[in-house]
Amino acid sequence: MSTRKEEIAHNLALVREKIQASAQAANRNLNEIELIAVTKTFPASDARILHELGIRDFGENRDSEGAAKSQDVQGRWHFQGQIQGNKLKSITKWANFIHSLDSHDHLEKIASLCKERQGEPLGIFIQVSLDGAHGRGGVPAQELTKLADSVISTTGIQLMGLMAVAPLGVEADKAFTELAVIHGAFSANFPTSTALSAGMSGDYESAISHGATHIRVGSSILGSRTPEM
Ligand SMILES: *Cc1c(COP(=O)(O)O)cnc(C)c1O
Repeated sequence: MSTRKEEIAHNLALVREKIQASAQAANRNLNEIELIAVTKTFPASDARILHELGIRDFGENRDSEGAAKSQDVQGRWHFQGQIQGNKLKSITKWANFIHSLDSHDHLEKIASLCKERQGEPLGIFIQVSLDGAHGRGGVPAQELTKLADSVISTTGIQLMGLMAVAPLGVEADKAFTELAVIHGAFSANFPTSTALSAGMSGDYESAISHGATHIRVGSSILGSRTPEM
């Protein structure tokens, strides 16, 4: 019988191999691709194991879970779920990065909460919607510049770049080809904010081939979650 640590180590090694192979196939430097281990719904003990295995970036979708686990485990904590305004006060305390900014209202709240932020600025990714349907969050591509202009003129936060999720029912390669075009235009406008957060367990290899710099991988490392999330 294998222990939880052995199981996670095995899965993590496979994911790291695939990241390496995808980077190589795309002629990209491995160290420009950051793996965020998505620990949502899994216990803090799993995050601790991941830390022992060298992981320093952790992703969460819910404020309550992120607040608790980040107390327990040192690292960079990434909030990647849909934002609820009333949770931002807490989120901006524990999160080092928010991947899912998609509204001016939330930006205003973040701005007032981060005005006097000590230490590192809060890293912000703007989520772009690839289906225009707002189903899984994100702003349409044509609204990115306006929101990004507001982010860069705000103190206490730093614009990292873009985030996207492949729409349900759309082939990842097709979605991420479109994303790469949007990202190219965005990076030309905001040359110090060129990060691209894209790719989950089912599609991170495709995302890497289309320029992802931050991939968010949960179930391939920790196993399947209850269908609720
Ligand atoms: C859950 C989630 C992930 C990780 O998904 P897996 O399929 O478990 O790798 C990544 N990004 C977002 C926004 C998520 O909600």
